Amino acid sequence: MAALVASRLRDIPDFPQPGIVFKDFTPLLADGAAFGTLVSDIAERYRGTVDVLVGIEARGFILAAAVAYELGLGMVPVRKAGKLPGETLKESYALEYGTAEIEVHTDAFEPGQRVLVLDDVLATGGTAEACAQLVERAGASVAAIEVVLELAFLGGRSRLDGHVVNAILTV
Ligand code: IMP
Repeated sequence: MAALVASRLRDIPDFPQPGIVFKDFTPLLADGAAFGTLVSDIAERYRGTVDVLVGIEARGFILAAAVAYELGLGMVPVRKAGKLPGETLKESYALEYGTAEIEVHTDAFEPGQRVLVLDDVLATGGTAEACAQLVERAGASVAAIEVVLELAFLGGRSRLDGHVVNAILTV
């Protein structure tokens, strides 16, 4: 699976700002066979062990919705602040410059539900850490955090101590 992902990822230099090399997985999504293999791979590793999927805006939505459909489970969006219409819980986290905020609906989970969190990239870990806190504050439990790509040199995993973290490809 790692080789397939590596073959369908591309580097976009200087995006979103000079000096950053953005890992773009739109070629993976555009390849129906590769996308299907990715979704099945994730789904089969968690079948029967999770109750609901969380997708982190925006690319996490694509993965979580597809895996949830494959497993016959529901999907909960964790969104950037101000986008969800109902009552929300909010977490702030530091970016290199400034802060970001993400939210989840207060009533998104049944108590104790086992949640698989999905996103495309684990970088500094701030987003995943804030997401895990939201899931727990909302009364559910984080079964695992699954990402397609982990940028290990940014050390994000160290912020997720106590959680199961799996990356399909690590660079
Ligand atoms: P972190 O909070 O620094 O771990 O950043 C992870 C979040 O930023 C995830 O929601 C990713 O979608 C996004 N992200 C960071 N770097 C990249 C990248 O190179 N490609 C795609 N998404 C990225």
